[in-house]
Amino acid sequence: MKRRTFLSGLFASAGSQVFAKAAYAQGRPQMPTAEQIKTALQQANQTPMKIEKLELPTAEWKKRLSSAQFNVLRDEGTERSFASNLNDEKRKGVFHCAGCDLPVYTSEMKFDSGTGWPSFFTTLPGVFDKKTDFKLIYPRSEYHCARCGGHHGHVFNDGPQPTGQRWCNNGAALVFKASAA
Ligand SMILES: [Zn+2]
Repeated sequence: MKRRTFLSGLFASAGSQVFAKAAYAQGRPQMPTAEQIKTALQQANQTPMKIEKLELPTAEWKKRLSSAQFNVLRDEGTERSFASNLNDEKRKGVFHCAGCDLPVYTSEMKFDSGTGWPSFFTTLPGVFDKKTDFKLIYPRSEYHCARCGGHHGHVFNDGPQPTGQRWCNNGAALVFKASAA
């Protein structure tokens, strides 16, 4: 009995992995250009800025954030795919944490993964802390803002080369600021 439970767990786990990969592949991701990758990696390799922690009581977060923002950032919720208009954001600029305004990605770091969530192949240095969550059957690497601790999304290892990273970010956790053209 034990063995059967173990095996079905194993199959379910492998199935989820395959499903997640298939959904990503079917989305027909558009890979970043060589020029874009070069710029993004330079930005990612800057000296990390000094980050001072921002800690607030839940009631204060409720006041500051919209319910969609609160659900993702403070409750580790996941928005529906294609729910955020940041998914299609293609202008030059910087994506900030919606909780504390920390700049977390530049527009050069973004690529169209086809998953329906804003996706990035690298981040500004030191802006996220990672931990493993087991909410689905298989472990996933959850990441949160190094300043306010807000949950942003999950990072996968099937992203574009050379980083191989796919930072799958909830749009509600981000605020985009277009650079003055
Ligand atoms: Zn933050």
